[in-house]
Amino acid sequence: VEVVLRNAMTIDLEDWFHILDAASSPPMEKWEHLPSRVETATATLLDHLDAAGVKATFFCLGWVAQRYPRLIRAVAARGHEIASHGFAHALAHRQSAVAFREDLRRSLRALEDAVSSPVLGYRAAGFSITPLIPWAFEVLREEGLQYDASVFPGRHGHGGWPGAPSAPFCWDLGGGEVLPELPVASVRVGSRSLAFGGGGYFRLAPGALTRALIRHLNAQGTPAVTYLHPRDLDRDQPILSGLGPVRAFKCYVGVRGAEAKFVRLLGASSWGPARDLLVGAESWPHISMR
Ligand SMILES: [Zn+2]
Repeated sequence: VEVVLRNAMTIDLEDWFHILDAASSPPMEKWEHLPSRVETATATLLDHLDAAGVKATFFCLGWVAQRYPRLIRAVAARGHEIASHGFAHALAHRQSAVAFREDLRRSLRALEDAVSSPVLGYRAAGFSITPLIPWAFEVLREEGLQYDASVFPGRHGHGGWPGAPSAPFCWDLGGGEVLPELPVASVRVGSRSLAFGGGGYFRLAPGALTRALIRHLNAQGTPAVTYLHPRDLDRDQPILSGLGPVRAFKCYVGVRGAEAKFVRLLGASSWGPARDLLVGAESWPHISMR
């Protein structure tokens, strides 16, 4: 009997203007006044997931859940896992432990007001849990989370944890407590790690390369954790002005072809929600975070 290795299809559920950390990124007070694309763009993703029979994990921004609770209910009703992407899309390493906990609680309240299922997973904005804030994992555990998916095992524009394993592992929190970690799919190119499984890299790289890299990971027994945003496929989104040429390229390259690429990707591997990868987590390597 062939064992089917599932990969995790994850979506960071946020709007077109939730672009991190640019001088022109609108502050939260402005968000409600901007035209929204999140319902339309998410509907496209949901239809493709349904057509492929794939259940995914949606790491939902609490702000979006508070404003569009029906959208979160629709995602859950179609069988997908609802998880937390924090409330205000703030970089974790720019927050105090107290502020990080408050943002997490606020997101969990918004999600729990929208859907009745318990929230097991968390992903910080921009993979921003770094070695500077190892306490973040303790906060997640204390607030009842069952796994984290915030680690990018390399340097990243907004964070990253160079040296972290690229396969699932457990953070050893001490005192017998652990927190399972599902790092985002990456590949080493020289001394750098590339998060090929999502966002700008997904849109930039040829689809055949992405699919081959996933097969390569799977051949080593490692599931791939990919990540996309509704805006990655949204050809009709407004363009955020004032990004500068490099950020503008990263934010919008390949959006036009991304939908077809996504459909091919769904059909090319076995996919499930992130929580399904936690089976057997007890036997994963335990890593100390300090
Ligand atoms: Zn995000």
